[in-house]
Amino acid sequence: MIRFNCDRCDMEIELDDELAGTKHECLGCGDINRVPAENSKSDEDALPVDSKMRDRAAEAGFPADFGPEVRVQLVRRCWFRSRAIRFSLVVLMILVGLIGSIWVPISNKNMLWWALFVPMVLGGVGLLVWWWIDRLAASIEITTKRTIMHRGIFSKSSSEVVHDNIRNIQIEQTFLQRMMGVGKLGISSSGQDGIELQVNHLKDPDNLRKIIDLYRPL
Ligand SMILES: [Zn+2]
Repeated sequence: MIRFNCDRCDMEIELDDELAGTKHECLGCGDINRVPAENSKSDEDALPVDSKMRDRAAEAGFPADFGPEVRVQLVRRCWFRSRAIRFSLVVLMILVGLIGSIWVPISNKNMLWWALFVPMVLGGVGLLVWWWIDRLAASIEITTKRTIMHRGIFSKSSSEVVHDNIRNIQIEQTFLQRMMGVGKLGISSSGQDGIELQVNHLKDPDNLRKIIDLYRPL
């Protein structure tokens, strides 16, 4: 028998020896625990050399797949990268509007020209601010045990998928997104049909998938 305590609620868990190295859901709190080798008092040498015991995350230089949950990465959406062309055009529009607004009084032109240039500046700045808010409105947090999607700025909501329950990780990229190294990450879990978590405008989605894969039983 293997005895150990849950990482989160400290409840004692008792399991058969052959489950060493696998993952087990705590009946007390639902947390996923890595089952240690038989009563951890044993020497390092005594650990079974079993592929189930390999900690791929630690080997890749990330926080270990054992022990209490820790954050691996918090990823915000991109501001510029995912809309590089639109973004550049808007910045250009703001510049033209600014230059025009200054040019009108200097050159004694009809003040009606301002009706053209001022809205260019205000509209452009407004768009940049809107994209900034949009960027903050969703993020992905990867921990050693789950991936959490946070949504909203003022009213927060979040949904999560436990890594052990992930069925599939999808990446979608338009041609432009691929050129800029951004994309949409979608995660579906064994518990539900369809994609459960989805966030667009994430930088380097392939890398995010690799990180999540380190904490999945594959
Ligand atoms: Zn527990």
